[in-house]
Amino acid sequence: MSVPEQMIGVEEALSFILSHFEPLEPETVYILDALGRVLAEAILSDVAIPPFDNSSMDGYAVRAADTAGASPEMPVTLRVVADVPAGTVADTPVGLGEAARIMTGAPLPEGADAVVPVEETDKWTNTSQAPRGKGATVEVFKAAKVGANVRQAGRDMQPGELVLTTGTLVRPAEIAVLATLGHSRVQVIRRPRVAVLATGDELLDIDEPLSPGKIRNSNEYSNAALVARYGAIPVRLGIAHDTVADLTAKIHEGLAQSVDLFVTSAGVSVGDYDVVKDVLKAEGEIRFWKVKMKPGKPLAFGTIQGVPLLGLPGNPTSSMVSFEQFARPAILKMQGRTKLTKPTVEAILDDPLRRTDRRGYQRVIVCQDENGVYHAGTAGLQVSGYISAMARANGLAIVPEGEGTLPPGTQVTVQMLDWPEVEK
Ligand code: AMP
Ligand code: MG
Repeated sequence: MSVPEQMIGVEEALSFILSHFEPLEPETVYILDALGRVLAEAILSDVAIPPFDNSSMDGYAVRAADTAGASPEMPVTLRVVADVPAGTVADTPVGLGEAARIMTGAPLPEGADAVVPVEETDKWTNTSQAPRGKGATVEVFKAAKVGANVRQAGRDMQPGELVLTTGTLVRPAEIAVLATLGHSRVQVIRRPRVAVLATGDELLDIDEPLSPGKIRNSNEYSNAALVARYGAIPVRLGIAHDTVADLTAKIHEGLAQSVDLFVTSAGVSVGDYDVVKDVLKAEGEIRFWKVKMKPGKPLAFGTIQGVPLLGLPGNPTSSMVSFEQFARPAILKMQGRTKLTKPTVEAILDDPLRRTDRRGYQRVIVCQDENGVYHAGTAGLQVSGYISAMARANGLAIVPEGEGTLPPGTQVTVQMLDWPEVEK
């Protein structure tokens, strides 16, 4: 049975696909499992941070007025009445003419309003065994202003303050804020479960020896790796043979594992044994497209029992490039991410790149020259059925459709394959 295919642009295909996805529901996870996930709750501070005025230096807590006019030649001598290591509270207030030895993070004793760093006292240069803590005296070499080297309670976060909004991508810094506020568990959008299925009678699994006419299944592994890279959980369904029964069984196996998306490879191009198309048509609402891109023309998208299915082309590089353009944004959107475009740079071509009547995503190696200008050179043979250039590449140069070649020196936009994908 032949299925009519529609010619479609990349953007049109992507927006149709994305219209079928919404952020998934939240779940509560341990703080460290929130890394890379999107907050599904707002985080308000219920306390002042810091919780108390404290010293930002190792030194002496003083009354600033006592240090007026102090200099190395005319030091002010103060009596040390307390010793305050971090984690303790001074048992004595600091009175007129008095100081308390204080460590970074220790609470400022009552009466004190500034901290003189130890570097600005005789205790810095003086290597004698003279006592430094309670019972000693200290010579201050420099006048302190009120508030000097003091971290005021609530200056970082106020009680009731909205610190992290819903929708924030959790990075190590957000983890630090959550820990500071005492959240060991936090609500984030759950990770999607993505079924990965390879199709084709020619496929062998990786541990099998090569035999005539057969090749190893690489797409299942590249797709599973991409699923994981973009924060989802791969549910591997293995290889389906090009038979209606086998493919139907695999799809049902995926449905039974409550997946949020199917990513299949191969069997969607023209001239194929049409089983993939037939099964998808029989099982759900699927469209088959010819996308105006190279590599990666054939693409299928639809839903099976309410679960979206993205049918990627079989050629290994086409499969990966199409995953980046279509599966990746869908997987990110399900996780509540809003910035769905791949990071790009503008680069100067060092090699000519051939244009075709479809938009090219050519495998390139991008590097920066000594002036900070990005250059892109070809990563090797631009053949969608080969994979080694994809492994050498760190970018996909977007080559607008047209005739001839883009000569060296042309500026192109390059999607960076390995750059961190951030929200801000
Ligand atoms: P198809 O779309 O089924 O015509 O496949 C296109 C090309 O991709 C053929 O050369 C297939 O052998 C190859 N191919 C299909 N599936 C895989 C796979 N899982 N791993 C590596 N190559 C594949
Ligand atoms: Mg095939």
